Amino acid sequence: MTTLIPVLGDQLSSTLASLRGPAEAVVLMVEVFDEARYVKHHQKKIALIFSAMRHFAEELRDAGWTVDYVKLDDAGNTGSFTGEIERAVDRHGATAIRVVEPGEWRVLEMIDGWAPRFELPVELVPDDRFLCSRADFAEWAAARKRLIMEDFYREMRKRTGLLMAFGKPVGARWNLDADNRKVPPRGLNYPAPPAFAPDAITRDVLDLVARRFGAHFGDLEPFDFAVTRTQALVALDHFIAVALPRFGDYQDAIVEGQVFLYHAIIGRYMNCGLLVAREVVDAAAAAFDRGDAPLNAVEGFIRQIIGWREYVRGIYWHAGPGYKESNALGATRDLPDFYWTGDTDLRCIAQSVGQVREHAYNHHIQRLMVLGNFAMLIGVEPAQIEEWFLVVYADAYEWVELPNVHGMSQFADGGLLGSKPYAGGGAYIDRMSDHCGRCRYDVKQKTGPDACPFNALYWDFLARHRDLLKGNSRLWRMYDGWDRLGPDRQAATRASARAFMATLPGPARGWAVAE
Ligand SMILES: Cc1cc2nc3c(=O)[nH]c(=O)nc-3n(C[C@H](O)[C@H](O)[C@H](O)COP(=O)(O)OP(=O)(O)OC[C@H]3O[C@@H](n4cnc5c(N)ncnc54)[C@H](O)[C@@H]3O)c2cc1C
Ligand code: SF4
Repeated sequence: MTTLIPVLGDQLSSTLASLRGPAEAVVLMVEVFDEARYVKHHQKKIALIFSAMRHFAEELRDAGWTVDYVKLDDAGNTGSFTGEIERAVDRHGATAIRVVEPGEWRVLEMIDGWAPRFELPVELVPDDRFLCSRADFAEWAAARKRLIMEDFYREMRKRTGLLMAFGKPVGARWNLDADNRKVPPRGLNYPAPPAFAPDAITRDVLDLVARRFGAHFGDLEPFDFAVTRTQALVALDHFIAVALPRFGDYQDAIVEGQVFLYHAIIGRYMNCGLLVAREVVDAAAAAFDRGDAPLNAVEGFIRQIIGWREYVRGIYWHAGPGYKESNALGATRDLPDFYWTGDTDLRCIAQSVGQVREHAYNHHIQRLMVLGNFAMLIGVEPAQIEEWFLVVYADAYEWVELPNVHGMSQFADGGLLGSKPYAGGGAYIDRMSDHCGRCRYDVKQKTGPDACPFNALYWDFLARHRDLLKGNSRLWRMYDGWDRLGPDRQAATRASARAFMATLPGPARGWAVAE
C-alpha cells in the first residue's frame, strides 16, 4: 500500500497538509517542461523554483521521507505532470495519490483527470497555508452583494485576532492607509534585501536554465535569491528588523535607482511555500508588540497579507475558470513591444521594465499605477497584459496575478474586485516618483507632442468609457472636471491622445482607433 504524494513547485513547505500523511509514502517532485513553458517565465523565476525544489527535496530526505525527484533533463521525463504521475505510479506500484489542492484552475482540472485515468483514489487535501479556506471565502461571499476587500479584511482581523484588543482594532482604526502615502525625502538610507550566493545545486540549475530557457525574458545572473527555507527566514527577519518600520510611510513611493525601498521582497518566497502567511504576519505583529515598528507600518503590512493576498485568492476561486474571459472595457490593442524591451521615451515605463528585467520585481505602485495603468489607458487586450504580468515577476502565479491584473489593474471584470478603475494621469506619477523631472515629456503639459502622454490618455480613457463609468459614485468628480473643460479643450485632448496612440507599435484593433 504505497501512497504517492506529488509536491508541486509552489508547495515547498514542510508543514504542507499532504505531508502529515501516511507512513508508507513516496514524495514525488518533478521538473516539467510544460510548466516552465506554458508561459515563457522570467529566467530568474524558473531558477528560483527549480533550485528551491531541489533543496526542498534534500530537506525532505533528511527528515526521513522517500523522495522520487525527476529532473528536467532526466531520461524519460515526459515533460508533463500527468505523464510523470503515470510513470511514478508504475515505478512505485502506488495504490493511492494524495495531493494538496493546487493554486490554479488549470492544474486542478488536470488533477481531476487522474483518478479515472489511473484508476486510483486521489485525495485532494485543502491548502491550509492560506488563512481563509476556499470554503470559508465562499461562505463569506455568499452572504454579500458586493465583495469589498475592506469588509473581508476586518473579518480576517477578527478571525485571526491580529492587532485586536477586546474585539476592537488596536489604535481604534481598522485601516491606516491614509498615513501611508508620504513622499520620501532625499538621501534616505534604503536597506538592500539580503543576497544569497548560489551553492552547487543552484549553479547546476542556473546552467540548466541558461541552456534550456536562455531565450526567455529577463537576466538570469547575477542570481542572489533565497532558495531554502533557512535563507527565506533570513530575508523575512531582515525585512522585519530593517525595513518594516518605514514600510508604511513610503509604501507608494517610486525612487529612481531604488528597486526595493522598504518593501518586504518576500512575495516570491511566500508564493512558492518557503514562507507561510501566518508566520509572516505573526513576525510583524511581534515587532509592533516589542515597540520595534509603528502601527501604520504593521497594520499596512498585515493588511496586504491577511487582506489583499487572501482576498485575491478567494476571488480567483470564487469567480471560476471563466474569470479571465471577461473584457468589460472592450480592450483590444496589442501590447507594445517596449513592455519587453524598455525602449520608450516614457521614463516611468522604461525604468520599471529595466528593473523587472534585472530583478524579476517591481513594487506594487509600479505594477498598478505605471505599467498596469498605461496598458489600461491605451486599451491593451486583457489576455496580453495578463500574460506579461505572469511572465515577468518572480512572485507571479495565476491565482494572485489574475485578480490583480484582470480585476484591480485592468477593470476587465467590470468591478467584481475593485470599485473603480485605477486610472491616473501624469500628476499622480509625478507626485509619487522622481521620474518626471528626467523624462523627455513634460508632465505639466496636457496636450501636444511634448506633453506627458498619460495626461491626455487619462481623459480620453474616461471619455471613451463614459457610458460604462459615468454612474460610478467614485468617478463623478472626474467627469465633472472633464465636462468643465469645454468642447475645444476636450477635442484637443482627445486629438492628442489619438496622435500618441498612433505612434504605438503594434496594430490597434476595435475602438482604440475609433473616434
Ligand atoms: C497589476 C498587479 C499585479 C500583481 N501581480 C502579483 C503577482 O503576480 N504575485 C504577487 O504575489 N503579487 C502580485 N501583486 C501584488 C503586489 O504588487 C506584490 O505582492 C508585491 O509587490 C510583492 O512584493 P513584496 O514581496 O516586496 O511585497 P510588499 O509590497 O512588501 O507587500 C507585502 C506582501 O503583501 C502581499 N500583497 C501585497 N499586495 C498584494 C496584492 N494586491 N495581492 C496579493 N498579495 C499582496 C504579498 O504577499 C507581499 O509579499 C500584483 C499587484 C498588481 C497591482
Ligand atoms: S512625464 Fe509622464 S511619461 Fe514621463 S515619467 Fe512622468 S508620468 Fe512617465
